[in-house]
Formats: sequence, structure tokens, C-alpha cells
Amino acid sequence: MKVVIEEDKCCAAGQCVAAAPDVFDQRDDDGIVVLLTVHPPDDLAEGVRDAVAMCPAVAIRVEQ
Ligand code: SF4
Repeated sequence: MKVVIEEDKCCAAGQCVAAAPDVFDQRDDDGIVVLLTVHPPDDLAEGVRDAVAMCPAVAIRVEQ
């Protein structure tokens, strides 16, 4: 799994961090998403898919 984020779409809602805190974080100053790992391990895949589904800005996608 490869995770791709589009920072310019992110509206700092934070749902991705709630769904997969080992994969996503938010910048302290403006809340924009920070990708902690581009290739998360399989045990985090479900959380990543949840984040993709929950992101209101459609700023996250998964490749492969
Ligand atoms: S859920 Fe989407 S909009 Fe919210 S912080 Fe994460 S990437 Fe940004």
C-alpha cells in the first residue's frame, strides 16, 4: 500500500488522524495533514482505508 496526500486539498479536519494515528499527523501551526509513512504495514491498512473514506476534502488516496 502506498498512501498519497494532497496538502492543498486538506481542510485540517483531522479525521485521518483519528482513523490512523500511526500514519497521519497534523501540523501544529495550521492543522494540515502530515504523512508519517508512505508505505504503512498491512496491520494499518484498514485504518488508512477508513481515513480515505472519512476525509471530507478527498485529500487522501491509496495506490496499489
Ligand atoms: S481528514 Fe482530510 S482534510 Fe482532515 S486533516 Fe486529514 S487529510 Fe486533511
